Amino acid sequence: VDTNVQIDMEKLQDSFPGFRHKYRLIKRIGEGTFSTVYKAEDLQYEHYDNTWDLEKETEKWSTPPLKSFDSHEEAKDQHIRHALQLDRLPTRQQQRRRKPKFVAIKKIYVTSSPHRILNELELLHDLRNCQSVCPLITAFRATDQVIAILPYFRHADFREYYRNMSPTDTAIYLRSLFTALSAVHAQGILHRDIKPTNFLYDPPTRRGVLVDFGLAEREGVDSKPCLCHDDASVRKSRLRNALHTSAAPHAGYPKNDTRPSRRANRAGTRGFRAPEVLFKCTEQTTKIDIWSVGVILLTIMSRRFPFFNSADDVEAMIEIATIFGQKRMRAAGQLHGCMFETNIPTIGAAGFSLERIILWSTCRIDTGEGLSDDEKIALDFLSRCLELDPSRRISADEALDHEFLRMGLD
Ligand code: ADP
Ligand code: MG
Repeated sequence: VDTNVQIDMEKLQDSFPGFRHKYRLIKRIGEGTFSTVYKAEDLQYEHYDNTWDLEKETEKWSTPPLKSFDSHEEAKDQHIRHALQLDRLPTRQQQRRRKPKFVAIKKIYVTSSPHRILNELELLHDLRNCQSVCPLITAFRATDQVIAILPYFRHADFREYYRNMSPTDTAIYLRSLFTALSAVHAQGILHRDIKPTNFLYDPPTRRGVLVDFGLAEREGVDSKPCLCHDDASVRKSRLRNALHTSAAPHAGYPKNDTRPSRRANRAGTRGFRAPEVLFKCTEQTTKIDIWSVGVILLTIMSRRFPFFNSADDVEAMIEIATIFGQKRMRAAGQLHGCMFETNIPTIGAAGFSLERIILWSTCRIDTGEGLSDDEKIALDFLSRCLELDPSRRISADEALDHEFLRMGLD
């Protein structure tokens, strides 16, 4: 083990009183922008059960209600005392449950705001009974440090298996992911960061769990009306008015732009952001997660990872526009009151069909080999996920009913 990792592990064990009696740290399994995750053995587990079944256990896990730290100030006040933020008296149901032997300990960086940390823990708590969502066992705080304890879920690196997935394998994978999303969306929660590293999948057992609610939020919180939620006729007249009242647009990039700047939540991961996120829609919905799943499916079908590889939002928009073409991008922008103009020669008016993109990236253009019947069903599903207009994009529940995901029913 790397000495720096060793030092960090020592520090973690020293920061929480009694840590060494409860957990034995094994190794670091993840390091991201907002946290470091370790695998550990729970030394107080009740029964060792190698065949621990998450799907069944998820129902039984019940975390006690969170005692929230409502504000920064309150969090600071409490920081000297033990500051366990949860009421940890086990419920009777909890006493009966079987604990997993291994846990994932997610140490959330102290640079994250208390508000953000609380948001993640609270959402996980609200989602504790959802199938395919990794449940929260408990959480601890010591001064400014917070750790979340989750059952450890064995998983493989996406890069190791995505190239070998048949359409049926893909359908089973996505069925599991959409089962989680359906439950999350039913509670009006947007995950906001759907991508392979946040969906832990175990190919041998074909089970997956959704993790990382660090960017998740409730639909409607913080949103302001956007044109995309108006009727098409209302939207058209508003757009027309806006064009007449502002000076006629000049060619080229606007200097001294007097238009009010738009603010919208753009959190997420490059390459997985939905077009409405790039167009700074102020009324984003759970459909942004569906787009991200579409990007995962496109990755699997085209055998290219990462499929999109943009450095920023403008590049991301260029990548999407290259596929969908100027005409459809312009219509997509107008939904949110945005003008889409470009003189980049590689962005054609009509773009390319998704079928062509897949055939091209799997080197089948020259051979003349087409898509298999199963791939055609997958392609139809893909086009429903990568629909530029969020209101027309498939929902998680509709997805579970689609012929493609039905292929994933054993
Ligand atoms: P971050 O906010 O830093 O991205 P995540 O919650 O996504 O944190 O966790 C980062 C990584 O840690 C994941 O990609 C995964 O490899 C690993 N991990 C997280 N939770 C678990 C878990 N319950 N079981 C096993 N590994 C996990
Ligand atoms: Mg993550």
